[in-house]
Amino acid sequence: MPLVPMRALLDHAAENNYGLAAFNVNDMEQIQAILMAAEETESPVIVQASRGAREYTNDAYLRHLMLAAAELYPKIPIAMHQDHGNSPETCMSAIEQGFTSVMMDGSLNADGKTPATFDYNVDVTRKVVNAAHAKGVTVEGELGCLGGIEDGHGAGLTGAEAMKHLTNPVQAEEFVAKTGVDALAVAIGTSHGAYKFTKKPTGDVLVMSVIEEIHKRLPNCHLVMHGSSSVPKELLDIINKYGGQMKETYGVPVEEIQRGIKHGVRKINVDTDNRLAMTGAIRKVFAEKPGEFDPRKYLDPAREAMRKVCVDRMVAFGQAGQAGKIKPVTCKEMVAIYSRGGKK
Ligand SMILES: [Zn+2]
Repeated sequence: MPLVPMRALLDHAAENNYGLAAFNVNDMEQIQAILMAAEETESPVIVQASRGAREYTNDAYLRHLMLAAAELYPKIPIAMHQDHGNSPETCMSAIEQGFTSVMMDGSLNADGKTPATFDYNVDVTRKVVNAAHAKGVTVEGELGCLGGIEDGHGAGLTGAEAMKHLTNPVQAEEFVAKTGVDALAVAIGTSHGAYKFTKKPTGDVLVMSVIEEIHKRLPNCHLVMHGSSSVPKELLDIINKYGGQMKETYGVPVEEIQRGIKHGVRKINVDTDNRLAMTGAIRKVFAEKPGEFDPRKYLDPAREAMRKVCVDRMVAFGQAGQAGKIKPVTCKEMVAIYSRGGKK
């Protein structure tokens, strides 16, 4: 089936109380790993690419790889999402490339680094919603600023500074009303990258109560958790066992994400865990077979390690088993749904 607008997947997830992992991709093996996991677990999937990924793949490779995925897995509903668009131009170029969903991250200015004003955020996000919905494409906005930096994008906030930029639930209500976004990324103390927490997070640093408060005010808005890799110790251990030097670190526990799913979280961004899994697998081959020089001999185990992480998350978030239950909607059909004010 053609790539589907992400809104169709989020709506189905909301109606059936589950969450969807959104996995980042940069190359063929990662796309293959996600689709292999999706087929095995019969999961709908969100595949997302950052600006850095689009640059790395030169857009054209990425577009054709995604079309190949749709062709090879006709029974899996796949949404293709631009992660952290820094400007309306970035989002529009993604739509031209066939993305069925875009994130306009107006929580930061176009430099992707400086926290922006609320008015700027509303203005750029509204612009993108108008243009994207006219083409049936889904829009995710962000309010509040996440910690850390992802692919050069982020204010790099840590500790107390990051806690000052958590999403304000009252403002969230106003933001969604003014912009018409389909989904909202919220800042609740998570950050991008591997180094999220120095110990297993508790409620003072991972503020799940913010999600519960926002969901109470906006029961029909799909919430998104960024920086939500769990950073499992066993993946760090494999890297370090085979010559890596990863420091001790903690991610977002899967049970906290499951708690979020009970309170309106429908999209959970996972990137670091897959990076860790692939890196560990490649290091293992290099350490055990130093004479090996065929890239397939280490890329295949890397792909397999990522597939396992994807399967785990798909099962944990509840998207497993849902692929066949979703009635595919095209972007064209979505245009008509938006023109009816969202009524199917
Ligand atoms: Zn993010």
